[in-house]
Amino acid sequence: MCGIVAYLGEKNAYEVVIKGLQRLEYRGYDSSGVAIHKDKSVNIYKQKGKVQDLIDFASDKDTNGNLAIGHTRWATHGLPNNVNAHPHQSSNGKISLVHNGIIENYSVLKKELEQRGYKFLSETDTEVLVHLIGDIHKNGKQSLFDSVRLALNEVIGAYAIVVISDENPDELIAARKSSPLVVGLGQGEYFCASDATPIIEYTKNVVYLEDGEIAHISLKNGLKLKTIGNQNKTPYIQELEMHLEALEKGGYEHFMLKEIYEQPKSILDSMRGRFSISQGKVVLGGILDYEEKLINAKRLIFVACGTSWHAGLVGEYLFEEIARIPVEVEYASEFRYRNPIINEDDVVIAISQSGETADTLAAIKIAKERKATLIGICNVVGSSISRETHCGSYTHAGPEIGVASTKAFTAQVTILTLMAMMIGRRKGTITNERFNRLLVELNAIPEKLKTVLKENDLIEKIAKIYHKSTNALYLGRGINFPLALEGALKLKEISYIHAEGYPAAEMKHGPIALIDEEMPVFVIATKDSSYEKIVSNIQEVKARKGKVIAIVSHGDKEVKKIANHYIEIPKCDELLVPLLATVPLQLLSYHIALMRECNVDQPRNLAKSVTVE
Ligand code: GLU
Repeated sequence: MCGIVAYLGEKNAYEVVIKGLQRLEYRGYDSSGVAIHKDKSVNIYKQKGKVQDLIDFASDKDTNGNLAIGHTRWATHGLPNNVNAHPHQSSNGKISLVHNGIIENYSVLKKELEQRGYKFLSETDTEVLVHLIGDIHKNGKQSLFDSVRLALNEVIGAYAIVVISDENPDELIAARKSSPLVVGLGQGEYFCASDATPIIEYTKNVVYLEDGEIAHISLKNGLKLKTIGNQNKTPYIQELEMHLEALEKGGYEHFMLKEIYEQPKSILDSMRGRFSISQGKVVLGGILDYEEKLINAKRLIFVACGTSWHAGLVGEYLFEEIARIPVEVEYASEFRYRNPIINEDDVVIAISQSGETADTLAAIKIAKERKATLIGICNVVGSSISRETHCGSYTHAGPEIGVASTKAFTAQVTILTLMAMMIGRRKGTITNERFNRLLVELNAIPEKLKTVLKENDLIEKIAKIYHKSTNALYLGRGINFPLALEGALKLKEISYIHAEGYPAAEMKHGPIALIDEEMPVFVIATKDSSYEKIVSNIQEVKARKGKVIAIVSHGDKEVKKIANHYIEIPKCDELLVPLLATVPLQLLSYHIALMRECNVDQPRNLAKSVTVE
């Protein structure tokens, strides 16, 4: 949430920062701003709206300079407007700061500062921090670096910040706690950013700041790291594996569409090198050292948010069926505040695309204190969750830029399938025959998905019929029930149509009252063990004049006869249906959102990588 970019070097800093902000815009896009150092002063330009609005605003301004910081905001405190946009400045205008996160004790600090005569221009929590730094720095006794460090000792909450001052054209100060920040080291130039995407085209050498670390960056003295408690640290330089092309739209109209179409490949990438059909085995190298813990676990607890939580629900079916381990799936935001009962026999699996989700991160910290084994399933290599957990498996789906998660979901489900199979096999809770059959079927999923994507034209036609609906219902049973939730979420988040997902049999306990001839009901009705039951549920919808759009298996006869529309997907093992059936639901939401003229990649009020709680 929120994107930070900073540059110090010989290039035009504004151009580097603006380009970086555009790469990070998926993290927040209600307003943006830059501060550019020039001749012992700093020019600040801020604008409500997209980064493009900032570019338009600054087009006739002086944007020269070799040191700049920039921010794209996802408001937590105060409306998205020009005043609340970052950067914020100290009262003498000498210090400029961008911030991602929340200063939780801001009102106490604000009161103290107001009593000392400080005037606040914005409603943000962030402005408190910059005044605090300014207050410590004002009599010149502390360097800017120490002023920032001391101010951070007063702060409770989450932050990634970058600070510059008009007095020094060769100084960037960056710090983090619970919000991500990465420093890029180029040839005679430095970068800071919320993630590596703005940096990758200039250098592959990066240092991920740890919680409680503060960096002093200058061309003269290089990168120096300390803790905010003033202990020296040695920067650990890592090499990025990301490629620039993965961050471009590659000819697609939207990132979301590109990412939907990438799924045959991203699923393959998630599985690559992790199983062998001829040897009949699955090996997730990242969790091998903790395999015994999983085998002996009394229960598994999945903690996640949003779409990742839905992947966790699919994982619940997979682990219970294949590995016979009881599973609880928890919203991280609830789990962390519930004084949960966890002990050392529990295994907590955190699922997060970005690996930075604040609530999930907090949940695993609690589980760690209580001695549980922690496993991460993340997409972003080197992310906070991947570092906080004992072990884990990366999903390797490639960067996901569209705010509505698509390929990250199927990659998470792929990893959960492999993990359940690996453990089930070791525990002997799955027969060899079933295991081998499942492996062959899993291996075939990417090809089958290509067939599903060929239904795009049909899906677009169906979208055209229903795009003006105001409500929608999604139904599924068993392992397809989480898909009903995910389908409804996808529609809500990008097309702003109210939608609900339900286990199909639950419909008669309430939602059936909503059904009339205006109501599209999307049903996952593939040929599996609950097929007969779901056929009855479809009949119940039809009897109330609801419009049924069914996802069916190739060769289906019964549902095709009664549904208003159907989308066929290839037959596969019923445990693998989520990997195929979710894709038509993603495409449906995509087309409906487009027809409603919604911003598909940047839906209102949302942001990717939710680093505030
Ligand atoms: N809390 C800060 C604000 O509301 C920063 C939010 C963000 O991370 O974008 O301005």
